[in-house]
Amino acid sequence: MLIRSVKVKSRYTKGIIIMRKYFATTIIMAISLSLMSIAAVAEVLPNRGLYEVSHDRVELHGGFWGPRLKTHHETTIGHALDCLERNGHVTNFDKAAGVFDGPLRGHHAFDSDLHKAMEGAMYSLQHHDDPKLRQRVEGILDRILAAQQEDGFLISYFIVNGLDKKWDDMRLEHQMYNAGHFFEMAVEHHRLSGEKKAIDAAKRFADHIDSVFGPGKRYDVGGHEEIELALVKLYRATGERRYLELSRFLLDERGHLHGTERRPFESGPLSVPERIEGQTDAEYRRAKWHASLRWRNGRMQDHKPLAEQTEAVGHAVRAGYIYSAMADIARFMDAPEYERAVDSLWQDVVGRKMYVNGSIGTAQYGDEGFGDPYLLPNRTYCESCASIAHVFWQHRMNLLKAQAKYADVMELALYNGAISGISISGDGFFYQNPLESKGSSRSSWIGLACCPTNLTRIIPQVGGLVYAQGKNRLYVNLFAAGDTSVRMDDGVKVKLAQKTDYPWDGYVKLTVTPEQASDFDLCLRIPGWALGRPVPSDLYRFADSKVAAVGLKVNGKTIDVTPEEDGYVHLKRSWKAADAVELDMPMPVRRIYAHEKVLADRGKVTLMRGPIIYCFEAVDNPNMDVLSIALPREAELRAEPRPELLGGVTILQGKGLDDRQRPVTLTAVPYYSWANREKGAMTVWINEAPIASAALPATSSPIPAQRADQSTSLKQAGKSPIKVFILAGQSNMEGQGVVSMDHPSDYNSGKGNLVNTMKDPNKAYLYKHLKDRKGEWIVRDDVKITFRDRSGGLTIGYTGYGGSSHIGPELQFGHVIGDYFKEPVLLIKTAWGGKSLYQDFRPPSSGGKVGKFYKQMLKDIHKALNDIEKNFPDLASRTYEVAGFVWMQGWNDMCDAKAIPEYDKNLINLVNDLRKEFKSPDLPVVIGELGNGGPEAGGNMAAFRKAQKKGAEQIDNGVFVITHNFWRDPQQSPNVNHGHHWCGNAESYFLVGDALGKGMIRLLMKKNSRSNDSR
Ligand SMILES: [Zn+2]
Repeated sequence: MLIRSVKVKSRYTKGIIIMRKYFATTIIMAISLSLMSIAAVAEVLPNRGLYEVSHDRVELHGGFWGPRLKTHHETTIGHALDCLERNGHVTNFDKAAGVFDGPLRGHHAFDSDLHKAMEGAMYSLQHHDDPKLRQRVEGILDRILAAQQEDGFLISYFIVNGLDKKWDDMRLEHQMYNAGHFFEMAVEHHRLSGEKKAIDAAKRFADHIDSVFGPGKRYDVGGHEEIELALVKLYRATGERRYLELSRFLLDERGHLHGTERRPFESGPLSVPERIEGQTDAEYRRAKWHASLRWRNGRMQDHKPLAEQTEAVGHAVRAGYIYSAMADIARFMDAPEYERAVDSLWQDVVGRKMYVNGSIGTAQYGDEGFGDPYLLPNRTYCESCASIAHVFWQHRMNLLKAQAKYADVMELALYNGAISGISISGDGFFYQNPLESKGSSRSSWIGLACCPTNLTRIIPQVGGLVYAQGKNRLYVNLFAAGDTSVRMDDGVKVKLAQKTDYPWDGYVKLTVTPEQASDFDLCLRIPGWALGRPVPSDLYRFADSKVAAVGLKVNGKTIDVTPEEDGYVHLKRSWKAADAVELDMPMPVRRIYAHEKVLADRGKVTLMRGPIIYCFEAVDNPNMDVLSIALPREAELRAEPRPELLGGVTILQGKGLDDRQRPVTLTAVPYYSWANREKGAMTVWINEAPIASAALPATSSPIPAQRADQSTSLKQAGKSPIKVFILAGQSNMEGQGVVSMDHPSDYNSGKGNLVNTMKDPNKAYLYKHLKDRKGEWIVRDDVKITFRDRSGGLTIGYTGYGGSSHIGPELQFGHVIGDYFKEPVLLIKTAWGGKSLYQDFRPPSSGGKVGKFYKQMLKDIHKALNDIEKNFPDLASRTYEVAGFVWMQGWNDMCDAKAIPEYDKNLINLVNDLRKEFKSPDLPVVIGELGNGGPEAGGNMAAFRKAQKKGAEQIDNGVFVITHNFWRDPQQSPNVNHGHHWCGNAESYFLVGDALGKGMIRLLMKKNSRSNDSR
């Protein structure tokens, strides 16, 4: 085992001692170098990968971080401790120690907030000589430690409320989470002071946990991960390998049923608990919530063993922490399975689930967690803690894999997603960080203080993210003005001074000063953004592929800047005092587009300069709705440093269009700096529709205002036209089939859930084309679909009534039709539940008032046709042909006695009017019958069915498709008998779509044979 010592600066001296030695055995040094308490504390080095140049060896001053660290020390820490004291976080420990008579306040995770703020203070104190703060911190620490129990247990909530419950309800009560944050704080106190009171208390607590949990003991794991990475820290600070083993045990146990023995994981359906007599509403709600967690336990990354997890799911903060621990275990132990798992999880997050600013966690499933791939709405959750956990994870990935791309994401999340959570003044906080908002104000404190206290501890840790060391290598991961001092493998101490105005300017000067000449490899990260890549995946891309040449000089001599495969430029040489390395990375303003599957960002653009993501705020763009502005593709953008603004930023400006398409100058500020002035709307992504305007140059690739009508289009040479199918109608077309595992489980008790149905081995063949060999949902790019403001390749979900967790008949319809045509297919879905043909869709030929939704339907269809180029750039050069119309009926007409006698006529008129509108007199038409009720149902239902059939039979080149064949067995779909077969029955929707698609193909084949005959 390798051990290195790190310096500890005491309150009595500013002396810095840096020592590093290697030992062959597990020996911990805690050397008192003098009675004046300068101590060196050994730290265990990893088996593989890189190791940290910890924050205490890096002094950041000037530049971007210097002023922030000052504000943090002078404002944030004191403010956080004040708020925590005021809210009872400290007196809770007094009460637990038996010296306070007042009430216990807050919840079971309250201790963790105090530990985090204290940890932040301890980082900061290692850089600031501040006896007053030091005294305050020591005072609070003593009050915390006074509450520790004989057996080592130390959580105030349980000490006060009953120690018999201390390890009950592990999933919800955050016991291990509190413990983890205590360990992290204690390790930092040891590093700060060299004293052992806190770290010894942490060891006693960890020993207690180790005595309760482990092989042959209890197999439970905590619901909120964190302790796992903290135990690795405690192991490194103490050399006690059992803490590393305990961390590994907690990792290994996730995904198994918890209790007295390890069992294979089994998922089960949600069962709603009976209400117990005397239970209050709040208690009953909580009981239901508890019950739901077992079913939804992806929330806690506990749905399967961690080593088998390949997709990021559940609570994003917990995920960030547990993925960090997995990377640590892979670095400190022999654990290739965890390395493989974090690799896959990384691909999933960075490739499909990350916002452009490095934030994570859409809370799509109401669990503060990850949503479906590519589903990244901009009015979103993105908890500050999730970005911070993301920074920690990417840092550990970089240390594990020694590749620059992880530092790219770390930098992105740090500068954009994480620090957006704290105000420039250092005392205003966001819990959520949306990328689009109508306006929001920061809170000076948040009762659930996880985010403010996490921000309190990440800012002073930034120095520790800047460098890393490997065998005879010194890595530069971040560009930040300051000084550091490291000892290389040959024992030579090397000072490194970094001068830069990064992230506002890409010039970085490093002065390398070894005590004596030293051979080592200085590894410079060339950021992805400087190489034409905003992120290391295809989730976001720059609008053009231009790459401005990066300059590099060593002692004035130009060096080639071609990073090696690991993303670093390796400068291997014998370094001598005052060697100068100059890196010059031009920072043009770059436009970013999202992957076409990210529907929320379709047709939109955002701006990046260096590592900074920009946003448009109302305060800089007055008298317009910033949520509706547009930035034409050719608009020139300029960067302007504004040292007086927002603590010193570079703003971006360019000519754009306001919400009324009038030319205006648009101004963007760094996303992290939003909501520091007056409250107003903000957006990161803005429209890029190159709208023609006299004031602006014509766009090079204009979107035609109106495509040529299909009769001309069809004659055009070249690629064959896109086949367009209109899927219209009432509630049945809108679609409420539940497809998702985690979303409304109570629809048909989950039995109508398509994902559940797919598990039925007898039906698996039906659905096999929905997933690929790896079990991932297929996205069919040869079949496109638009529905309201969404458009994309055909895949499960996305275009149903409830968004990604629902489907309508279009899913299987698209597969059937897509297989029939070799040309690309576009489905235009336009439907509204609860509407009648009699009134809402009343066609013009029926006389009377034309239905509002008839007009809306036409508007939707025309918009979709006009936007083909915008929504589907890959179809841009093609013409289209409206090839078919599907009308799926609803049940509202049935409820109105006046509607039924008219139904057949209205249906015929609807089809005729549409055929006229699209100049297609023999447009194939499929009428899907209402599937509700049942053939035996009497009354209006029977009369209505007759009217449907009568109307459909009179439509030439039309077909009436009966879908009631797909009614489920009442046991499978209990709602069928209640007249709502559609409610949650995704399987029905799938089969209805199948019938509609096959009906359409029958018509198309007939049409083909007719036209062949006439030849
Ligand atoms: Zn939080």
